[in-house]
Amino acid sequence: MAFERIIGQARAKTVFSRALQNHRIPHAYIFTGLYGVGKEAMALELAKALFCQDIENKPCQQCTACRQVEHFNHPDLLYLFPTQKSADEKDIREILDQVSEDLYSRKSKGANPGIGIDQIRDIRKATALKPLGKNRVVVIAEAEKMTLQASNSLLKILEEPPPNTYFILTSSHPSALLSTIISRCQQVRFALLTDKEIESALIQRQNIDPEQARLIAGISQGSYRKAVEWLDENFQQLRQMALDFLRTCFKDYNTKIIFIENASKSMDKQTIKDMLSLNLLWFRDAFLIFENNQQDNEFLLNSDQIEILEKFIGAFEEIAFDKVFFALEQAISYVDRNININLTLMSVFNQLQQSLKIRGISS
Ligand SMILES: [Zn+2]
Repeated sequence: MAFERIIGQARAKTVFSRALQNHRIPHAYIFTGLYGVGKEAMALELAKALFCQDIENKPCQQCTACRQVEHFNHPDLLYLFPTQKSADEKDIREILDQVSEDLYSRKSKGANPGIGIDQIRDIRKATALKPLGKNRVVVIAEAEKMTLQASNSLLKILEEPPPNTYFILTSSHPSALLSTIISRCQQVRFALLTDKEIESALIQRQNIDPEQARLIAGISQGSYRKAVEWLDENFQQLRQMALDFLRTCFKDYNTKIIFIENASKSMDKQTIKDMLSLNLLWFRDAFLIFENNQQDNEFLLNSDQIEILEKFIGAFEEIAFDKVFFALEQAISYVDRNININLTLMSVFNQLQQSLKIRGISS
C-alpha cells in the first residue's frame, strides 16, 4: 500500500497514487484541512514519491532518493516552514532531524513564527536554475504564515511556474492566504481522522496503552497532532479537573463561583472545551453502564476509572442523559463562539444539577 506512513486519508492517497501512475501531477497543490490531520506529512511523502527511483511502488522508502528526502539532504527538495527571524541553521537542522524521526513531529518554536520574504527569495534563486535531477519539489508548510511581501513574491513565481518544479503548499487556514495564490493551486481537502485511526496510531507510534489511546482519541477532534499534544500536556490533571467540575455541580453557589473563576484564570478557551468534552465522554460511559448494565469494559472510554465511574453513577437515582448531553454540547459550542465563559459554565452547573437526581433526596 502506497503512503503507508500516512495515518488515514484514504481518499487523498488514492488521488495521489493515480496522479503518479498517470504522470498527471499539477505544478502546484494546496492541501487544506484542519490542524494535525497529516497535510504536511503527506506533502513530504508526495515529494518523496516524485523523486523516488522505484518504478511501481512510489515512495519505496528504500532508494537513494527516498532516503535523501527523509533526511532532508535531497538537492532538489526545498522545504519551508514558519520560523522565528532569529532561527539559525542549527535551529532549523534540529527541527528537520525531528521530522526525519517522525513525520508528524514538527513543532513551531517561539512566538508567532512566520515565513518571510528572504525565504521566498531563496526559492526564487533556486528555481531560476535547472534542478540537478529531473524534478524539483518545493514544500511550503503553514503557507498562511507568509508575510504579505512573501505571498506576493510567491505569487509571481506561481504565475510563471519554473519548468519541472512542483509546489506543495499546506494550510489549516486557507482563508488567510491570497485568493490569487489558491486559484493557481489544485486544492486537495484533507479529512478529519476517525477516532479509530488516531487510537491505533497512538498505540503503534507513541507506545501508549490501548485504554489511554482510546480516551485521548475521543477528545482529539480528528487531529492526530492534537492527540499527541495531549500526551505532552498533563492529561491526568485535566481529567481530575473535569471530575472536580462535576462534583462542584452539587456544591453551594460560592464554591461554584470560585471554581469558575479559577478555571477561567488557569485554562485557555481550548482547555475549557477539552474539559467539557471529557465530561461528555464521562457521561457517555455512564450512559452505557446505566442503560445497558454494561459489564464489559471494552466499550468504555474511562475503563481505567471504572470504580470511580460506578460510584459516581451509584450516587444518582436518575440521570436525564439527553439533557446532560445537550447542556455539555451546547456549552462547548458557546465557548467556541466566544460567549462569556463564566456564564456558560454556571449555566452548565445549573443544567447538570437539574438533570441529575441524587439518591435519597426528594425533589
Ligand atoms: Zn524510493
